[in-house]
Amino acid sequence: MKQERLRARLRGAVQGVGFRPFVYRLATEMGLPGWVYNSNGGLVLEVEGEAGQLSRFEQRLLADKPPPAVVLSTEFARLAPAGFTRFEILESEEDAAKTVSVLPDLATCPECLAELRDPANRRYRYPFTNCTRCGPRFTIVEDIPYDRPRTTMREFTLCPECRREFEDPLDRRFHAQPNACPVCGPRLFTSLDEAARAIAEGRIVALKGIGGFQLLADARNAAVVARLRRLKNREEKPFALMMPSLEMVRRYCQVSPGEEALLLSPAAPIVLLRPNGTPGIAENVAVRSPYLGVMLPYSPLHHLLMDGCPYPVIATSGNRSDEPIATGNTDAQTRLAGIADHFLMHDRPIARPCDDSVVRLVRGRASVVRRARGYAPLPVPVNADLAPVLAVGGHLKNTVAIAVDRQVFLSQHVGDLDTLEARRAFESALADLCRLYRFEPQLVACDLHPDYASTRWARASGLPVAAIQHHHAHAAACAAENGLDRPYLAVSWDGTGYGLDGTVWGGEFFRFENGRFDRVAHLRPFRLPGGEAAVREGWRCAAALLWEAGLRQPDPVIGRMLERGLNSPVTTSVGRLFDAVASMAGVAQRNGTEGQAAMLLESALGTAPSQEAYPLPGGDWEPLVRAVVEDAARGAGAACISARFHNALVNWILETALRAGLPDVVLSGGCFLNGYLVERAAAQLERQGFTVHTHHSVPPGDGGIALGQAVLAGMSPSCA
Ligand code: ZN
Ligand code: ZN
Ligand code: FE
Repeated sequence: MKQERLRARLRGAVQGVGFRPFVYRLATEMGLPGWVYNSNGGLVLEVEGEAGQLSRFEQRLLADKPPPAVVLSTEFARLAPAGFTRFEILESEEDAAKTVSVLPDLATCPECLAELRDPANRRYRYPFTNCTRCGPRFTIVEDIPYDRPRTTMREFTLCPECRREFEDPLDRRFHAQPNACPVCGPRLFTSLDEAARAIAEGRIVALKGIGGFQLLADARNAAVVARLRRLKNREEKPFALMMPSLEMVRRYCQVSPGEEALLLSPAAPIVLLRPNGTPGIAENVAVRSPYLGVMLPYSPLHHLLMDGCPYPVIATSGNRSDEPIATGNTDAQTRLAGIADHFLMHDRPIARPCDDSVVRLVRGRASVVRRARGYAPLPVPVNADLAPVLAVGGHLKNTVAIAVDRQVFLSQHVGDLDTLEARRAFESALADLCRLYRFEPQLVACDLHPDYASTRWARASGLPVAAIQHHHAHAAACAAENGLDRPYLAVSWDGTGYGLDGTVWGGEFFRFENGRFDRVAHLRPFRLPGGEAAVREGWRCAAALLWEAGLRQPDPVIGRMLERGLNSPVTTSVGRLFDAVASMAGVAQRNGTEGQAAMLLESALGTAPSQEAYPLPGGDWEPLVRAVVEDAARGAGAACISARFHNALVNWILETALRAGLPDVVLSGGCFLNGYLVERAAAQLERQGFTVHTHHSVPPGDGGIALGQAVLAGMSPSCA
């Protein structure tokens, strides 16, 4: 039988996930000699055997790969045999990791969980158990290549038993960098039982988690929830919950199979679920919100703690209002001193803050709302060679990014840049990303808005700057994550973004062709009386529309603002139109949190929304506003108004797409966090033969802006 040699190169997240032991086992099992090692350019391996065997090996290499591995590209070559006699794992190249991704933190795997629960196992109830398939990664890495001396585990010397596992290619813990056991690994300072008791007694516990401190409290106890709101200075924003088991999540929420898979995935994010009305969770956990954000325990420490808390527990980031999450023990003790009654800490340092991610299911797939633990810093592969761009993102829900060849590395969620602490976190996220990937930017991409903290940083950086229009960046982010490299029509809708004409945009349609955007349609402009105040108070937007349509005279103060155009910027924002309609429908008069009114209007749709639609000819809101007023006057309910409004927006998208005549349509911007809007728009467009691109791995909101900036600036660096 003729012998051949197969050479394979895999790129992506293939390091630190047990890939080499997997290759070793596969090759040994199939009787194929050869070798595998981690190189600069990814994982490289060769095996020798008969052609059919090699094809089967090739298939199984990808089909049976370890679950946390993400293969972004493969190269296979057939060569003349070299006469290997056995299979070996070779030493890695020293600088192996530049293009090898740092992996996200992964939730405890089933094997480790079984060991945690097994009284006979040496890791029984050990809160820092992990293996190559699970455990901390991004939050312990201090430098690359990823090995123990360059992680926050370097202070812990492996005991002989852990070392044996670490060095055995057939062991699940072969090269598991954070490998640890009760003999040699990190330890808790205080007992788990004490923390569980504190939560049960209605106290607030600060827990040192994976990417920072969390504040935990009994979610059934309205008094402690109210106290936590007051101390955290958090009026209405819903709190996320941790529940001990999937069964309990089902007790309180509607869970589809797709949502169940998300809850149980290695990223183990907060999943936005619809509550099913079961009483028990205090009302003030999620005030005026159609969703509950729920996650399952994702580290051994969380599993063990939740064993002692068989009920829903609030798990919110350990910070005051909009500050970044606390990561260090002393930092947490200082900053959370007035909030937490009890601290559950340990001695494994956290290398960088990483909040819990938030995800929802859209069009049957995960759609990331806040991208952090479990997802960051996986790169987004793109279709073009990009110049080395550092993208600084927007102002709210900030993330930053770097473009390296054909990949964009997007940072974890940094947050709103309103406070000094937040701006420091932003700067360290930038520095961190550059250092980790030995990245030297030649260009900084920022938003066109001159007053964003991120823009000011870019202007002060001393590097050439490319200012990218906000809604162009939204569109490009969505196109990039979908690998779209043909001309497309972008629907770029959100609350606020600085327009090319200096007005506030947010209801834009662009044709993207030959590297440039053409604004082909937009919402008819209207005024925002009070500027920023109109963003918080949707009734002001409603008053402006009713005044301009000649339907109602506003109160004198607002009236004067509108008549004289005082402190009343002009906008085309669909987000503000949502606020106005929510106000007119009596659903919400203000936004207690960003996007709250729109979310309430969406949830007013109910389970069987009407198919009727208001008129919105060419984006002119006036006939729509008249129809809303008539409906409201005849006592049509919020469900009816909401459905007709949503359907009007979808019709406008469809009409504009048909007129533009491009087969690909991109839906981006914060408005497309609205599940009904995305799903209905996509379905109707697809029925007309369009290919629809929506966000999945990157947020539709401003958390995705940095990706779009990196791509647009990186493709045409000359626009600087
Ligand atoms: Zn594991
Ligand atoms: Zn050990
Ligand atoms: Fe935006």
